[in-house]
Amino acid sequence: MDKVLVVTGGSRGIGRAVSLLAAKRGWRVCLSYVSNRDAAEAVVREIEAGGGTALAVRSDVAVEAEIEDLFRQADGLGTLGGLVNNAGVVDYAARVDEMTGTRLTRMMTTNVVGSFLCAAQAVRRMSTKHGGRGGAIVNLSSVAARLGAPGQYVDYAASKGAIDTFTTGLAVEVAAEGIRVNAVAPGLIETEIHASGGQPDRLVRLGPSVPMKRVGTAEEVAAPIVWLLSDEASYTTGTLVTVSGGR
Ligand code: NAP
Repeated sequence: MDKVLVVTGGSRGIGRAVSLLAAKRGWRVCLSYVSNRDAAEAVVREIEAGGGTALAVRSDVAVEAEIEDLFRQADGLGTLGGLVNNAGVVDYAARVDEMTGTRLTRMMTTNVVGSFLCAAQAVRRMSTKHGGRGGAIVNLSSVAARLGAPGQYVDYAASKGAIDTFTTGLAVEVAAEGIRVNAVAPGLIETEIHASGGQPDRLVRLGPSVPMKRVGTAEEVAAPIVWLLSDEASYTTGTLVTVSGGR
Protein backbone atom coordinates (compact mmCIF):
# COMPACT_ATOMS: atom_id res chain seq x y z
CA MET A 1 0.00 0.00 0.00
CA ASP A 2 1.40 3.41 -0.92
CA LYS A 3 -1.40 5.66 0.26
CA VAL A 4 -0.90 8.75 2.35
CA LEU A 5 -2.78 9.40 5.58
CA VAL A 6 -3.08 12.84 7.18
CA VAL A 7 -3.52 12.72 10.97
CA THR A 8 -4.14 16.08 12.61
CA GLY A 9 -2.70 16.31 16.11
CA GLY A 10 -0.51 13.25 15.63
CA SER A 11 2.18 14.23 18.09
CA ARG A 12 0.47 12.99 21.25
CA GLY A 13 -2.42 10.97 22.64
CA ILE A 14 -4.90 9.33 20.29
CA GLY A 15 -3.38 10.93 17.16
CA ARG A 16 0.03 9.54 18.04
CA ALA A 17 -1.39 6.04 18.54
CA VAL A 18 -3.26 6.30 15.22
CA SER A 19 -0.09 7.44 13.43
CA LEU A 20 1.98 4.55 14.80
CA LEU A 21 -0.64 1.87 14.07
CA ALA A 22 -1.48 3.22 10.61
CA ALA A 23 2.21 3.22 9.68
CA LYS A 24 2.40 -0.45 10.75
CA ARG A 25 -0.52 -1.12 8.39
CA GLY A 26 1.41 0.46 5.52
CA TRP A 27 0.13 4.03 5.45
CA ARG A 28 2.61 6.85 4.77
CA VAL A 29 1.73 9.21 7.59
CA CYS A 30 1.70 12.99 7.46
CA LEU A 31 1.02 14.06 11.03
CA SER A 32 0.44 17.58 12.26
CA TYR A 33 1.15 19.27 15.56
CA VAL A 34 0.74 22.82 16.78
CA SER A 35 3.39 23.41 19.46
CA ASN A 36 5.09 20.20 20.53
CA ARG A 37 7.64 19.69 17.77
CA ASP A 38 9.84 17.31 19.77
CA ALA A 39 6.92 14.95 20.39
CA ALA A 40 5.92 15.06 16.70
CA GLU A 41 9.48 14.37 15.54
CA ALA A 42 9.70 11.48 18.02
CA VAL A 43 6.64 9.88 16.40
CA VAL A 44 8.25 10.28 12.97
CA ARG A 45 11.47 8.67 14.20
CA GLU A 46 9.52 5.76 15.74
CA ILE A 47 7.69 5.16 12.45
CA GLU A 48 10.90 5.36 10.44
CA ALA A 49 12.64 2.97 12.86
CA GLY A 50 9.89 0.47 12.03
CA GLY A 51 10.55 0.85 8.31
CA GLY A 52 7.66 3.25 7.62
CA THR A 53 7.44 6.70 6.11
CA ALA A 54 6.27 9.77 8.04
CA LEU A 55 6.45 13.53 8.06
CA ALA A 56 5.61 15.99 10.85
CA VAL A 57 4.17 19.37 9.85
CA ARG A 58 3.43 22.30 12.17
CA SER A 59 -0.12 23.26 11.25
CA ASP A 60 -2.76 24.85 13.44
CA VAL A 61 -6.20 23.54 12.40
CA ALA A 62 -7.63 26.89 13.49
CA VAL A 63 -5.74 28.62 10.66
CA GLU A 64 -6.94 27.91 7.11
CA ALA A 65 -3.63 28.76 5.40
CA GLU A 66 -1.81 26.31 7.68
CA ILE A 67 -4.29 23.55 6.78
CA GLU A 68 -3.64 24.20 3.09
CA ASP A 69 0.10 23.95 3.76
CA LEU A 70 -0.38 20.67 5.65
CA PHE A 71 -2.11 19.04 2.68
CA ARG A 72 0.42 20.46 0.20
CA GLN A 73 3.20 18.86 2.24
CA ALA A 74 1.25 15.59 2.44
CA ASP A 75 1.04 15.61 -1.37
CA GLY A 76 4.83 15.30 -1.36
CA LEU A 77 4.49 11.82 0.18
CA GLY A 78 2.18 10.46 -2.55
CA THR A 79 -1.54 10.03 -3.21
CA LEU A 80 -3.81 10.96 -0.33
CA GLY A 81 -6.02 8.06 0.76
CA GLY A 82 -7.14 9.01 4.25
CA LEU A 83 -7.69 11.73 6.84
CA VAL A 84 -8.13 11.45 10.58
CA ASN A 85 -9.63 14.66 11.95
CA ASN A 86 -8.15 14.14 15.40
CA ALA A 87 -6.87 17.53 16.59
CA GLY A 88 -9.19 18.91 19.24
CA VAL A 89 -9.16 20.98 22.40
CA VAL A 90 -11.09 21.21 25.66
CA ASP A 91 -11.12 24.16 28.04
CA TYR A 92 -11.34 24.77 31.76
CA ALA A 93 -14.49 23.59 33.52
CA ALA A 94 -17.12 26.32 33.36
CA ARG A 95 -20.85 26.79 33.25
CA VAL A 96 -22.38 28.18 30.06
CA ASP A 97 -23.22 31.43 31.87
CA GLU A 98 -19.49 31.90 32.53
CA MET A 99 -18.29 31.34 28.94
CA THR A 100 -16.86 34.16 26.84
CA GLY A 101 -17.05 34.65 23.09
CA THR A 102 -13.29 34.25 22.88
CA ARG A 103 -13.51 30.82 24.48
CA LEU A 104 -16.39 29.70 22.28
CA THR A 105 -14.72 30.93 19.10
CA ARG A 106 -11.50 29.03 19.90
CA MET A 107 -13.45 25.87 20.68
CA MET A 108 -15.60 25.93 17.55
CA THR A 109 -12.83 27.14 15.23
CA THR A 110 -10.47 24.38 16.31
CA ASN A 111 -12.84 21.45 16.79
CA VAL A 112 -15.49 22.14 14.13
CA VAL A 113 -14.23 24.58 11.47
CA GLY A 114 -10.80 22.90 11.44
CA SER A 115 -12.38 19.48 10.80
CA PHE A 116 -14.56 20.89 8.00
CA LEU A 117 -11.60 22.59 6.30
CA CYS A 118 -9.37 19.51 6.55
CA ALA A 119 -12.16 17.34 5.12
CA ALA A 120 -12.61 19.84 2.27
CA GLN A 121 -8.92 19.52 1.39
CA ALA A 122 -9.17 15.72 1.54
CA VAL A 123 -12.34 15.50 -0.57
CA ARG A 124 -10.80 17.73 -3.26
CA ARG A 125 -7.97 15.20 -3.55
CA MET A 126 -9.78 11.88 -2.98
CA SER A 127 -13.21 12.28 -4.62
CA THR A 128 -13.65 10.47 -7.92
CA LYS A 129 -15.69 13.53 -8.91
CA HIS A 130 -12.44 15.51 -8.78
CA GLY A 131 -10.38 12.79 -10.50
CA GLY A 132 -9.25 11.18 -7.25
CA ARG A 133 -9.07 7.49 -6.33
CA GLY A 134 -11.34 7.52 -3.29
CA GLY A 135 -10.44 7.27 0.38
CA ALA A 136 -11.66 7.38 3.95
CA ILE A 137 -12.17 10.05 6.59
CA VAL A 138 -12.50 9.40 10.32
CA ASN A 139 -13.63 12.22 12.60
CA LEU A 140 -13.03 12.31 16.35
CA SER A 141 -16.27 12.80 18.22
CA SER A 142 -16.78 12.14 21.95
CA VAL A 143 -19.38 10.57 24.22
CA ALA A 144 -19.63 14.16 25.53
CA ALA A 145 -21.82 14.87 22.47
CA ARG A 146 -24.44 12.57 24.03
CA LEU A 147 -23.81 13.44 27.71
CA GLY A 148 -23.62 17.23 27.21
CA ALA A 149 -20.81 17.70 29.78
CA PRO A 150 -22.86 19.94 32.10
CA GLY A 151 -20.79 22.05 34.48
CA GLN A 152 -17.65 20.92 32.63
CA TYR A 153 -17.61 22.08 29.03
CA VAL A 154 -20.95 22.12 27.25
CA ASP A 155 -19.17 24.03 24.45
CA TYR A 156 -16.82 21.10 23.86
CA ALA A 157 -19.72 18.63 23.93
CA ALA A 158 -21.63 20.76 21.42
CA SER A 159 -18.57 20.94 19.15
CA LYS A 160 -18.55 17.14 19.11
CA GLY A 161 -22.31 17.08 18.45
CA ALA A 162 -21.51 19.16 15.38
CA ILE A 163 -18.90 16.57 14.38
CA ASP A 164 -21.55 13.83 14.54
CA THR A 165 -23.90 15.75 12.24
CA PHE A 166 -20.98 16.69 9.97
CA THR A 167 -20.08 12.99 9.70
CA THR A 168 -23.63 12.00 8.75
CA GLY A 169 -23.97 14.72 6.12
CA LEU A 170 -20.56 14.45 4.52
CA ALA A 171 -20.79 10.65 4.40
CA VAL A 172 -23.92 10.83 2.22
CA GLU A 173 -22.57 13.74 0.18
CA VAL A 174 -19.49 11.79 -0.98
CA ALA A 175 -20.74 8.18 -0.70
CA ALA A 176 -20.95 7.78 -4.48
CA GLU A 177 -17.54 9.41 -4.96
CA GLY A 178 -15.41 6.65 -3.41
CA ILE A 179 -15.08 8.28 0.02
CA ARG A 180 -16.28 6.77 3.30
CA VAL A 181 -16.77 9.06 6.30
CA ASN A 182 -17.14 7.75 9.84
CA ALA A 183 -16.63 8.97 13.40
CA VAL A 184 -15.26 7.45 16.57
CA ALA A 185 -16.57 8.62 19.95
CA PRO A 186 -14.11 7.89 22.76
CA GLY A 187 -15.08 7.94 26.41
CA LEU A 188 -12.48 8.60 29.13
CA ILE A 189 -9.11 7.98 27.51
CA GLU A 190 -5.70 8.28 29.15
CA THR A 191 -4.09 11.26 27.38
CA GLU A 192 -2.85 14.73 28.32
CA ILE A 193 -6.08 16.43 27.17
CA HIS A 194 -7.54 16.30 30.69
CA ALA A 195 -4.59 18.15 32.22
CA SER A 196 -4.83 20.71 29.41
CA GLY A 197 -8.36 21.43 30.65
CA GLY A 198 -7.03 21.98 34.19
CA GLN A 199 -8.21 18.57 35.47
CA PRO A 200 -5.15 16.27 35.72
CA ASP A 201 -7.10 14.09 38.21
CA ARG A 202 -10.19 13.71 35.96
CA LEU A 203 -9.49 10.10 34.97
CA VAL A 204 -8.76 8.96 38.53
CA ARG A 205 -11.96 10.68 39.69
CA LEU A 206 -14.27 9.44 36.94
CA GLY A 207 -12.66 6.10 36.04
CA PRO A 208 -14.68 4.09 38.62
CA SER A 209 -17.96 5.43 37.14
CA VAL A 210 -17.25 3.72 33.82
CA PRO A 211 -19.23 0.44 33.51
CA MET A 212 -15.99 -1.40 32.73
CA LYS A 213 -14.45 0.27 35.82
CA ARG A 214 -11.44 1.67 34.01
CA VAL A 215 -10.43 4.35 31.55
CA GLY A 216 -9.29 3.46 28.04
CA THR A 217 -5.96 3.77 26.28
CA ALA A 218 -5.12 5.72 23.13
CA GLU A 219 -4.29 2.40 21.46
CA GLU A 220 -7.81 1.10 22.18
CA VAL A 221 -9.19 4.09 20.26
CA ALA A 222 -6.62 3.90 17.45
CA ALA A 223 -7.58 0.31 16.58
CA PRO A 224 -11.15 1.05 15.38
CA ILE A 225 -9.98 4.25 13.67
CA VAL A 226 -7.38 2.39 11.61
CA TRP A 227 -9.94 -0.33 10.87
CA LEU A 228 -12.42 2.29 9.61
CA LEU A 229 -9.68 3.61 7.31
CA SER A 230 -9.00 0.15 5.91
CA ASP A 231 -10.59 -1.81 3.08
CA GLU A 232 -12.01 -4.17 5.70
CA ALA A 233 -14.54 -1.40 6.38
CA SER A 234 -15.35 -1.02 2.69
CA TYR A 235 -19.16 -0.98 3.20
CA THR A 236 -19.14 1.12 6.38
CA THR A 237 -19.92 4.81 6.08
CA GLY A 238 -21.81 7.43 8.06
CA THR A 239 -21.48 5.49 11.30
CA LEU A 240 -20.36 6.38 14.81
CA VAL A 241 -18.26 3.86 16.72
CA THR A 242 -18.35 4.43 20.48
CA VAL A 243 -15.22 3.38 22.38
CA SER A 244 -16.07 4.10 25.99
CA GLY A 245 -16.10 0.96 28.13
CA GLY A 246 -19.90 1.16 28.16
CA ARG A 247 -20.11 4.78 29.32
P1 NAP B 1 -4.23 15.44 23.42
O1 NAP B 1 -3.54 14.33 24.13
O2 NAP B 1 -4.46 16.73 24.12
O3 NAP B 1 -3.44 15.71 22.04
C1 NAP B 1 -3.91 16.71 21.21
C2 NAP B 1 -3.18 16.68 19.89
O4 NAP B 1 -3.76 17.66 19.04
C3 NAP B 1 -1.72 17.03 20.03
O5 NAP B 1 -1.02 16.35 19.02
C4 NAP B 1 -1.72 18.54 19.77
O6 NAP B 1 -0.48 19.01 19.24
C5 NAP B 1 -2.79 18.63 18.71
N1 NAP B 1 -3.44 19.93 18.64
C6 NAP B 1 -4.04 20.65 19.62
N2 NAP B 1 -4.53 21.79 19.14
C7 NAP B 1 -4.26 21.79 17.83
C8 NAP B 1 -4.49 22.71 16.78
N3 NAP B 1 -5.12 23.87 17.00
N4 NAP B 1 -4.05 22.40 15.53
C9 NAP B 1 -3.41 21.23 15.30
N5 NAP B 1 -3.16 20.33 16.25
C10 NAP B 1 -3.58 20.61 17.49
O7 NAP B 1 -5.67 14.96 22.90
P2 NAP B 1 -6.36 13.51 22.80
O8 NAP B 1 -6.91 13.18 24.14
O9 NAP B 1 -5.45 12.54 22.14
O10 NAP B 1 -7.61 13.84 21.88
C11 NAP B 1 -7.61 13.63 20.49
C12 NAP B 1 -9.04 13.78 20.00
O11 NAP B 1 -9.89 12.84 20.68
C13 NAP B 1 -9.65 15.15 20.26
O12 NAP B 1 -10.46 15.53 19.17
C14 NAP B 1 -10.50 14.93 21.50
O13 NAP B 1 -11.56 15.85 21.58
C15 NAP B 1 -10.98 13.51 21.25
N6 NAP B 1 -11.40 12.84 22.49
C16 NAP B 1 -10.52 12.59 23.48
C17 NAP B 1 -10.96 11.96 24.64
C18 NAP B 1 -10.05 11.65 25.79
O14 NAP B 1 -10.54 11.25 26.86
N7 NAP B 1 -8.75 11.78 25.66
C19 NAP B 1 -12.32 11.62 24.77
C20 NAP B 1 -13.19 11.91 23.73
C21 NAP B 1 -12.72 12.52 22.58
P3 NAP B 1 0.75 19.48 20.21
O15 NAP B 1 1.40 18.22 20.69
O16 NAP B 1 1.65 20.26 19.30
O17 NAP B 1 0.15 20.29 21.30
